[in-house]
Amino acid sequence: MASTPLTINDTAYRWPLRPVVAVCIDGGDPRYLQQYLADGSIPNIARFIEQGFAAVAEGSMPSFTCPNNMSLITGTPPARHGISGNYYLDAATWQPVVMTGPELLRGDTIIARFAAAGAKVVSITAKDKLRRQLAKGLDVSQGHVSFSSEFADRCTMAENGIEDVLGFVGMDKPGMYSMELSLFVLEAGLKLLQQRRPDLLYLSLTDWVQHKWAPAEDDARSFYRKLDDVFGRLAAHDITLALTADHGMSDKSNAAGRPNVIWLQDLLDQRLGAGKTTVICPITDAFVAHHGALGGLVRVWSRSEVDARQIIQALVGVEGIELALDKETACRMFELPADREADVVVIAREDTCIGSSAANHDLAGLEGNRLRTHGGVSEARVPFILNRPLNAAYKARAASQPLKSYQLFDYAINGTT
Ligand SMILES: [Zn+2]
Repeated sequence: MASTPLTINDTAYRWPLRPVVAVCIDGGDPRYLQQYLADGSIPNIARFIEQGFAAVAEGSMPSFTCPNNMSLITGTPPARHGISGNYYLDAATWQPVVMTGPELLRGDTIIARFAAAGAKVVSITAKDKLRRQLAKGLDVSQGHVSFSSEFADRCTMAENGIEDVLGFVGMDKPGMYSMELSLFVLEAGLKLLQQRRPDLLYLSLTDWVQHKWAPAEDDARSFYRKLDDVFGRLAAHDITLALTADHGMSDKSNAAGRPNVIWLQDLLDQRLGAGKTTVICPITDAFVAHHGALGGLVRVWSRSEVDARQIIQALVGVEGIELALDKETACRMFELPADREADVVVIAREDTCIGSSAANHDLAGLEGNRLRTHGGVSEARVPFILNRPLNAAYKARAASQPLKSYQLFDYAINGTT
């Protein structure tokens, strides 16, 4: 059983030669690595790049957390797995629907299929919102582990396959807005690797640091030094280590430090009439103090009196908009699921973000910080790093085809020597 290749969502995976540890550095824009490689702050990552494989890959659009984590864990684009944001609007009820439920995820996760075939697997995430979707189909009573550092103090064998996680890791419970929330994920993964040597580990961090600090700032550097240190300790255990990000991060403030915001609902109400459209910001979740729910992509649903063409027409010439696309075009360009897509998709330029109505966004949490956020095309480029060199077949593939971040497990399992 343990030598038969598995076909998961149409991709064949061989049995891993050694444990594969995949890490999603949330908000890990390539510009952070560029800065710290240049100033020598991340020697372990520098070694992986030199001895293994490194590229900048295309992440899934929209460049948000949930869609990209689901792309990584299924090995497929959003058109296939169905998760295109934290929220979509159910056009039948006109209610926003949270997209974090496992029932909304289409297809199998790579870890659940390997688990069912006899592998031992681990999935750890910083924020609990991702946990259930990442663990879709995973039976934790069979020795597998799935938990979040957000709820590390309340893990049970029945729900998480592990208990007393704080004692096991030897760290205090981290705060929601802290770099320890991410570091806890990695330290827990390392402990499990040392003690149980699972076959597949998926470790997903949070982007609080990158929202708050630019690459040149000391706090961001300090975080990356700590990440690099754990990566070095992980890599010492004869594993394949695969690093990527769910999305990048761009500074979207002006010279005075105020965010460059397009209040799209206000603008459309003014130009097309109040109540004709509904703008949904799919970056929204329960923890928005560090970005005020402002992102680089929003969705516009029409209440039938105006059509997509009129909405797009109303946005012509608006400073800071990079693209305004109808549903069909957006789905074709970005591999999005049509049944959950809006009538119009609006994408901001790198230096600009988009909100709904000014009155509905609380920017108090941003006080004193520049707005750094993501969601658009400008934040969809991500690092793709393996600590081991590619075999000949994957070397040829990487040289001839665009590299997608959702191929991370494929490259790590099938493509390394
Ligand atoms: Zn993220």
